[in-house]
Parts: sequence; structure tokens; C-alpha cells
Amino acid sequence: MELLQHLLPNQTGLALNSWNLDTANGRIVVELSSTQAWAECPLCHCPSHRVHSHYERTLKDLPLAQFSLVLLLAVGKFFCLNDSCIIGLTH
Ligand SMILES: [Zn+2]
Repeated sequence: MELLQHLLPNQTGLALNSWNLDTANGRIVVELSSTQAWAECPLCHCPSHRVHSHYERTLKDLPLAQFSLVLLLAVGKFFCLNDSCIIGLTH
């Protein structure tokens, strides 16, 4: 686990939660979560710390040796706090 944590680039806003070498299916599954505590609204550019919910994205990266690499990324969804802007935010 410590080795993989060092392989994550700094300043990514990601934390390594766990990983699993799934030899039966020829893949490595890495669980990550976003550490970003706020997001900027893409419409009005106001920052928001108010979390609406969380959801998971499944990503694939380049293979590592003979194993495919699957990234499970948990990210937060934020509300925009600007009263004149009613869109939700995600990061
Ligand atoms: Zn907004």
C-alpha cells in the first residue's frame, strides 16, 4: 500500500484507500477518493464547501505488466452557494 501511495503524483487531490491484485481476472483494482474539500462553480465561479452527495466513477488506466488497471474513484458533488445560481457542482 505504501508503495502505491508513493506512485500517486503529489498535488493530485487523491487519497489511496485500498488496492487489490485480482489474478483470476487479470486486473489490479485501485480504490481512490478525492480529498478536495471544495469546488468552484463552473457557471458563477463561486467556491462551495457544501457537499451534496458522493458518487463513484470507474476509470481505466494503462495496463501494468500483464494486468489491466481499474481505478475506482469516489468524488463529492457540491451545491453552489450563490443564491442567483442554482446549478450543482461536481469535482
Ligand atoms: Zn454557481
